[in-house]
Amino acid sequence: MTADQAHGQAQDQAHDTPVLRLESVRKTFGRDRVILRDVSLEVPQHTVTALIGASGSGKSTLLRCANLLEEIDDGAIFLDGEEITDPRTDPDAVRRRIGVVFQAYNLFPHMTVLQNVTLAPRRVLGVERAEAEAAARELLARLGLADKAGEYPDRLSGGQQQRAAIVRALAVRPRLLLLDEITAALDPELVGEVLSVVRDLKGEGMTMVLATHEMGFAREVADQVCFLDDGVVLERGTPSEVFGTPREERTRQFLRRIV
Ligand code: ADP
Ligand code: MG
Repeated sequence: MTADQAHGQAQDQAHDTPVLRLESVRKTFGRDRVILRDVSLEVPQHTVTALIGASGSGKSTLLRCANLLEEIDDGAIFLDGEEITDPRTDPDAVRRRIGVVFQAYNLFPHMTVLQNVTLAPRRVLGVERAEAEAAARELLARLGLADKAGEYPDRLSGGQQQRAAIVRALAVRPRLLLLDEITAALDPELVGEVLSVVRDLKGEGMTMVLATHEMGFAREVADQVCFLDDGVVLERGTPSEVFGTPREERTRQFLRRIV
């Protein structure tokens, strides 16, 4: 068992510890461009959190901070109870425990799907090639991509590429999956197959945070919905609370515009 797995197992027993916790996170760009003013958020194990909010409200920035791709100005972020924003943290070790999928351009174009998926397990985790490939093929099959292992990304549809990107993110067996508008660049007819994968992962208990404009999907799949506005989580609750009976006028305005 690797140290990360041991860590994960120990945390499995600590049911109350959220997988991800943001505590009063502040993030600015430049001198005075405040993006996240005071964001607090808890993502319990085996749950799905949907981040909603207008374009520019900081959803992507929040996900990037959680993965240590951006440095925060104040506050703290915890993964499995461990403060990852502590300066002594090794960012690479943190990123090994978090899978990320972005809107587009996820796969390396000069590598086959199988090479894309096995890259991190082999290079980062040091898994043997045969073992990494066997695990990759199993994951690809589960996501309906068994016959695409040898293809290059440009031979895949957008939906298949995003599914392959999800497989790549899963290949390191992350504790947490961050999904940033993963259907936003897809043709409408391809959105369903990608959302269906997210639905399946939820069924398997994967802990996820997703930024999305797909309100119908957020309503269906999320345990918790967070509405980001003006640098804070202005409103949070279950989908039926936030979508059905929003408390804040700003939330109502946003939902009227988008739905
Ligand atoms: P969302 O994902 O909700 O659309 P973003 O997190 O992408 O919002 O962006 C929030 C704000 O931060 C936007 O105004 C954007 O222009 C700004 N921003 C994002 N990244 C940077 C950066 N690297 N430098 C300066 N401003 C940025
Ligand atoms: Mg974004």
